[in-house]
Order: sequence, then structure tokens, then C-alpha cells
Amino acid sequence: MIRPKVTFPRSPSIPVTDSAIHEALMNVPRHRFVPKQYADLAYADTALPIGYSQTISQPYMVAVMTQLLCVNVHAKVLEVGTGSGYQAAILAQLAQHVFSTELIPELAARAFRCLRGIDCRRVRVRHTDGSAGWPEQAPFDRIILTCAAPAVPEPLWAQLRPGGRMVAPIGEDLGTQRLVLLCKGIDSSRIEKDIMAVQFVPLIEQGLGQQP
Ligand code: SAH
Repeated sequence: MIRPKVTFPRSPSIPVTDSAIHEALMNVPRHRFVPKQYADLAYADTALPIGYSQTISQPYMVAVMTQLLCVNVHAKVLEVGTGSGYQAAILAQLAQHVFSTELIPELAARAFRCLRGIDCRRVRVRHTDGSAGWPEQAPFDRIILTCAAPAVPEPLWAQLRPGGRMVAPIGEDLGTQRLVLLCKGIDSSRIEKDIMAVQFVPLIEQGLGQQP
């Protein structure tokens, strides 16, 4: 099957210059991660509903966040918010070990099936509240949040290896969220860089799960 290429904005605020990321986007069949009724929009540069009031992220945003993370093959990566599994599949093109957490059990199960369906074996999916991280697998070299938190959950910062990077949408509501890059120094110092305005679904607190 000839797969259409994902489209990007014409004049993006942050250009995606890393060819490995373009290659990863070419390699992962996004149509396998979107609900059937949206298959014709699978390669458009737009977020799409995946049920349970959640969305698969816009491909450009997936690319920008992945680029900011600076993933290499040896990196151990933690994702908070598996959703469809698409971002995890992109990360797995670049890194050998991807650990992804999802609060909604149905989404975690579906993402796992989609990932195995494309023979992606580098991703482990866990149904859990991702704001607690994945303590048994810590520390992580890279951490990515794909849902917006009011602030970086402390356990995630603690589970980031010194020298590591974290990318997260931070903010309480859609109008004020910012994408933030956090770098942890080898002395565990914290440097935060504000990247751009974004709109992500919120990080859900356990026990307040959404209905389909
Ligand atoms: N990375 C996803 C985007 C998913 S949207 C993709 O590529 O499709 C964000 C996801 O975060 C949703 O699936 C939502 O259920 C999940 N989420 C929200 N709060 C969470 C929490 N506390 N722990 C883990 N996942 C959470």
C-alpha cells in the first residue's frame, strides 16, 4: 500500500528539521491508530477524536515534541498519555525502550493492540495514573506528557535521570497552556524553556475518568 505523507503547517513556528523524525512519520501508518470513520483524515495535520473525550495528537505536534526530546536509540523513554498509541509508535522508531502509561483502560488495551498490529514491540503500555510515573522502570532519560498538567507532577521530575529531558504541556485551561521543555542538569538542577502555546486534553486525576 502506498501511504500518504503527513502534511505539516506551511510556516511552522518551529520547523521540524530532524530527518529521523520525518522518516519515523513515514514509517508509522497513522491510519491504523485513528477510528475507522476518520480514516480519510488520518494523514491530515489535525488532532482527531479517539473516544472517551480524548484525541490522537496532531502530527506536527507529535513531530515537534519528539524533536524537542532529542531521543536516541539508547534512551529509555516514558510517555504519560498513551491515547491511540501513535506518539509511542513514533518514539519507538527512535528509541529501543518506550514505557507508556494510560489512565483509561479501554484506550490502553486498544493502543496495545494497535502497536502489536504494526509489530511495534518496543513499547510497553500500562493502565495506570501516569502522574505517578513508572517507578519500577525509573530513571528515564526522556519523559513526554501528552496531556496537560497544571504543573509537572513531582514523581515525574524525580524519575527523570540527571542529564535528561522532559517535554510537557503545562497549564490549567486550553487558552493558556504552554509547551515546556525541562532539562535536568547532572547536578539535578532544573532549566525550563517555554516553547509555544498549545492545546492538549487535560491530565485526568485518577477516579475522575471520562465516559465514551
Ligand atoms: N499520545 C496520544 C495522545 C493522547 S491524548 C496519541 O498519540 O494518541 C492524552 C491521553 O492522556 C488520553 O488518552 C488520556 O486518557 C490520557 N491521560 C489523561 N490523564 C492521564 C493520567 N493521569 N495518566 C495517564 N494517562 C492520562
